[in-house]
Amino acid sequence: MLNLLVTNATLPDGRTGMSIAVQDGLIAEVTEGLDAPAHEKLDAEGLLLAPHFVDPHFHMDATLSYGLPRVNESGTLLEGIALWGELKPLLTADALIERALAYCDWAVAKGLLAIRTHVDTSDASLLAVDALLEVKRQVAPYIDLQLVAFPQDGVLRSQGGVENLTRALDKGVDVVGGIPHFERTMADGAASVKLLCELAAERGKLVDMHCDESDDPLSRHIETLAFEAQRLGLQGRVTGSHCTSMHSMDNYYVSKLLPLIAQSGVAVIANPLINITLQGRHDTYPKRRGMTRVPELVAAGVNVAFGHDCVMDPWYGMGSGDMLEVAHMGLHVAQMTSQAGIRQCFEAVTTNAARVMHLERYGIEPGCDASFVLLQARDPVEAIRLRATRLKVFRKGQLLAETPAATAALHLPGRAPSSSWMIPKA
Ligand SMILES: [Zn+2]
Repeated sequence: MLNLLVTNATLPDGRTGMSIAVQDGLIAEVTEGLDAPAHEKLDAEGLLLAPHFVDPHFHMDATLSYGLPRVNESGTLLEGIALWGELKPLLTADALIERALAYCDWAVAKGLLAIRTHVDTSDASLLAVDALLEVKRQVAPYIDLQLVAFPQDGVLRSQGGVENLTRALDKGVDVVGGIPHFERTMADGAASVKLLCELAAERGKLVDMHCDESDDPLSRHIETLAFEAQRLGLQGRVTGSHCTSMHSMDNYYVSKLLPLIAQSGVAVIANPLINITLQGRHDTYPKRRGMTRVPELVAAGVNVAFGHDCVMDPWYGMGSGDMLEVAHMGLHVAQMTSQAGIRQCFEAVTTNAARVMHLERYGIEPGCDASFVLLQARDPVEAIRLRATRLKVFRKGQLLAETPAATAALHLPGRAPSSSWMIPKA
């Protein structure tokens, strides 16, 4: 007998009336109209069953600290970094762990079951690293947490930067990070990319660098990152995060850059909520959008994912762990309003993000983990439009979270009471 049988589900690829059979935490079968004995049966009633959401770019050491010790008044990246510097000496491991665990609860409720978080390695105590390694251990039964050693103050710019980052890797941090545009000079930025990629190659680690997070069209560290990925044989293992300067770059230069990124197998992560608020702050009017060139990267064959980046921290006071909100903002900023474009935005917070993190057994296919979300929507387009309710969240066949369907009870003059959840009749 099966552990779980989901029937009458719509899948993100458009297949309808699908049954998903679950045995021992894995998807045993995906077939149209299958009925079989199961301990638990769930009728999806034609709604969308999608693999769980994935956030490939987050900062869990700072999350839910909004207002500590004060609020970012200018709203700029640089005031955020300065504010984080003021907060760091006040951090305690216990408070950091408590905030991170609270965020992970929000994430599960939103069907977000895999998160790649950067963790600041600039401080010699590595307090945040130890705290997030503890969080990773505690949430392992319900969230795949991947840690990136992130030298927020610049690996070359700050004293002991390389040593602290290396120690974080020794402690078990999974991915090598960097921040070349924050180093003192362009040359130092390029040197940091080379050094960090070599370190990753030596240790067999993945790479994910904050890269060119500015409006400066001459910030071109993504070029060095792509070159180093190729030189060191790291194709498919390297990610450039943000890459906002590409928005402002010269078009001819970008026409040469895109094929280099594609050939080097470097993935790109845009963080639409954060990019749209932090960038363009030195502009009067017109104000630049400050997000990287998503449709052009996708067209060039680059794997593009979207991250949340921040929730209620020194850089951003909004957010709730909802990757559909991220996709929603992404499609607006990138003007990806075609049906295909909207679906690409859904993939940017699911399958593409899972590829960035090298997640295994991800998807709605036989042999994959039975880790999926039933949404109150009939397809990915509707899911993004409504930031649809996550009716049920499963991980490895186990029910982790349920939310009642969103329905408004209407009491309209001259009409019988009715209800609406804002989807047109099929
Ligand atoms: Zn970031």
